Amino acid sequence: LVRLRQRLARSQGVLGRGLLALLSRDKIDEDTWEEIEDLLITADIGVGPTQELVERLRTRLRVEGADSAPVREVLREELLALVDPTMDRRLSVSRQEGRPAVVLMVGVNGTGKTTTVGKLARILVAEDRSVVLGAADTFRAAAAAQLTTWGERVGVDTVVGPEGGDPASVAFEAVRTGMEQEVDAVIVDTAGRLQNKAGLMDELGKVKRVVEKQAPVTEVLLVLDATTGQNGMIQARVFSEVVDVTGIVLTKLDGSAKGGIVVAVQRELGVPVKLVGLGEGPDDLAPFDPGTFVDALLG
Ligand code: GDP
Repeated sequence: LVRLRQRLARSQGVLGRGLLALLSRDKIDEDTWEEIEDLLITADIGVGPTQELVERLRTRLRVEGADSAPVREVLREELLALVDPTMDRRLSVSRQEGRPAVVLMVGVNGTGKTTTVGKLARILVAEDRSVVLGAADTFRAAAAAQLTTWGERVGVDTVVGPEGGDPASVAFEAVRTGMEQEVDAVIVDTAGRLQNKAGLMDELGKVKRVVEKQAPVTEVLLVLDATTGQNGMIQARVFSEVVDVTGIVLTKLDGSAKGGIVVAVQRELGVPVKLVGLGEGPDDLAPFDPGTFVDALLG
């Protein structure tokens, strides 16, 4: 946890330190507020939440004036409120009515889907849960091999199909294997071709229907690359129109100072960020914790 916090602070600290420096000026004039807005927008927090935060900070600093808590505390409270600590971020990965939980991992290719499936399996296995993986991304040639390698590394079975085969049939087989092995959870990697919304809807819809004939889909996790900014937000919107997303995985936060996207994407989709990716290594996935995140922002 300490290591993750350090890594987060390294990438996200610019925003918090910048805000603190601006808010600690002796005289905060209109230019300063504009600088603060620019900083927030640059960090991808989004226009709405930026204005909200600035409004609240202005009010608090004006009303409380000299009596106000230290700037750092005010800022911490307001940033935390923006990230919304009340959202339920627990993953639903326990057997239900004698059947495995099924997690569908969705998102555009390249965002880190396959890697995230592997890392998540590792976390679950470390928690003493049994897992089967399904390589239903049958379009990216290397995806099945990549997932199988993760499975071997973590010590769980990976169900693969023929290259270019039907993703739904791989998902079906994976869940069937999971039922047989009586595992806690089956994690299914899916393909993320976005050129055509109707096609995506057909494909993910079919995967979900086929899975649900056997076991409940308990999580649909949308994987988003934090470095893609507004483009990522557009992708997020499309996916959320196609499937009922239950949580967001924000990857590559280690390579981006734009952690504000946590706020933007939660607002946009109305679902919580549940996991964050902080590197390429097997241990670089962590549950998203608003308090830790805001502390990392403030350095
Ligand atoms: P997919 O096409 O969505 O399945 O993407 P992959 O899982 O193959 O990942 C694409 C690239 O992103 C790989 O090089 C991963 O190692 C890298 N990647 C995934 N997650 C993270 C992360 O949290 N941080 C960093 N820095 N790289 C990541």
